[in-house]
Amino acid sequence: MSLAEQMDTVTDAAAGTVDRHATTQTFESTAPTTGAVVGVFPVHDEAAVGETVARARTAAEQWAALGWDGRKQRLSAYRGYLARRMHELADLVYRENGKPHADAILEITLAVDHLAWAAGHARKTLGLRKVASGMLAANHAAYLEYQPLGVIGVIGPWNYPVFTPMGSIAYALAAGNAVVFKPSEHTPAVGAWLAAAWRAAVPDVPDAFQVVTGNGSTGAALCRVPVDKLAFTGSAATGKKVMAACAETLTPVLMELGGKDAMIVDDDADVVAAADAAVWGAMSNGGQTCIGIERVYATSAVYDRFVAEVTAQVQKLRPGSDGEATYGPMTMSSQIDIVRRHVADAAAAGARVVTGGTDPDAVPAEGYVAPTVLLDVPEDSSAITEETFGPTLTITRVRDAEEALERANATSYGLAGAVFSASKDRAMDLARRMRSGMTSVNSVLTFASVPALPFGGVGESGFGRIHGEDGLKEFTRAKAITRQRVALPVNLMSFGRPEKAADALARVMGMVHGRHR
Ligand code: NDP
Repeated sequence: MSLAEQMDTVTDAAAGTVDRHATTQTFESTAPTTGAVVGVFPVHDEAAVGETVARARTAAEQWAALGWDGRKQRLSAYRGYLARRMHELADLVYRENGKPHADAILEITLAVDHLAWAAGHARKTLGLRKVASGMLAANHAAYLEYQPLGVIGVIGPWNYPVFTPMGSIAYALAAGNAVVFKPSEHTPAVGAWLAAAWRAAVPDVPDAFQVVTGNGSTGAALCRVPVDKLAFTGSAATGKKVMAACAETLTPVLMELGGKDAMIVDDDADVVAAADAAVWGAMSNGGQTCIGIERVYATSAVYDRFVAEVTAQVQKLRPGSDGEATYGPMTMSSQIDIVRRHVADAAAAGARVVTGGTDPDAVPAEGYVAPTVLLDVPEDSSAITEETFGPTLTITRVRDAEEALERANATSYGLAGAVFSASKDRAMDLARRMRSGMTSVNSVLTFASVPALPFGGVGESGFGRIHGEDGLKEFTRAKAITRQRVALPVNLMSFGRPEKAADALARVMGMVHGRHR
């Protein structure tokens, strides 16, 4: 299918939803590279969101009734559909988000891999199993299973419009739930494409995965409707609003929020590899990556070499919209002001701006930010304390890795981070003590590509986990069952128990546990 036909499908899909909901208000999504209109989408109001969730409730029952094998087969069909149309979807991501086609392919690849893992591991992780009954219930069999919650609302950002929401969607579906997804108003076409693809690949349960489009008010409606759990990915500020709205209906929430991730470069690190990873971690996707590297703490032993290497590598980067560009424009023009403010604050506080900065000649057009490296930034500067979400990197000289860790951890966020060191034990020790949900050693962002590993933050980076077994369990409720196998002559939980039973029990407990001091 050509991109034009595909956009027709997307627009038809969205138009179909408009008709079904009688919503009249619409909004345009535009390409950040050219300003051209990518698509026109309905603003779903609360009534329309409610109708969509009601359809999802019916679909959730059909979906759950398919069982593990039925769901796995359909999730495989969906993943196959995405894999076969990867270039078409990547073109759409490029148009709507502005990132290079190759980066979009990488993003979709990760999403497909997570879909495969979630579908393949759902039964083993969540299915009915026996657990040990323990001493007091030795005559009972004990069972545990993780049951689907029903309908999961997913609210996602625009920076990785496929990979990020799919971290919730794939795991929620694999766990047996239906999903209603509200994409960012900056990437509704990608969201609508994903839902249209579901209907094409899984025609017998089309409403198990639906999309509602609109702005923040549509997301707020999804919180109020309510759903059985709300999986939110976005900024900490919006996350707080979502939690407050969900509190009204006691709807549980999963919060995947922003970060201010740090890299530690130790004395014995491979400096060239560390610089390469820092530049990719900070600048790829225009720095608009929740787990992007925003701060580097390099020890005195390697600082000068590291700065020289990063500076040399950054000079080879070229923001732009053609096939040769290393990263695209800022997806949201309003983000440019935040990035400029952080750079200007740092410069005013005495930081050295070694590349990029706010020089308008360093970028191909308005809407782009030049790759910017800041040295000697005071620790209380906004470039250190707030999420910048642009192609910037601060590099700070520290005495040793211990000081680096202390500074890395001195943040209200705690999403991810990286450690570069040649010593496995040293690196693992630093990684384990880093206050973050994920850390990669001698690379950046790798944990996101390992489906078995949970993904999520601490502090203002949120709570709850997507990906891996924890990600599957996140969209379930644990169900405990006991079944009496044989009746004992003495039943302690009966008014008919003999008077001496409690004394006998106390004696047994004394023999079993009383010797422990
Ligand atoms: P926002 O917080 O601005 O928006 C996130 C989503 O929430 C969007 O779909 C938005 O809709 C919606 N929304 C806005 N207001 C409300 C409301 N009152 N109630 C319900 N939903 C609402 O984040 P961005 O889209 O700007 O994304 C960037 C942020 O996401 C960064 O902080 C980044 O670090 C974080 N992020 C975290 C990830 C993680 O896994 N931890 C992964 C990727 C990004 P609309 O766009 O239509 O306003």
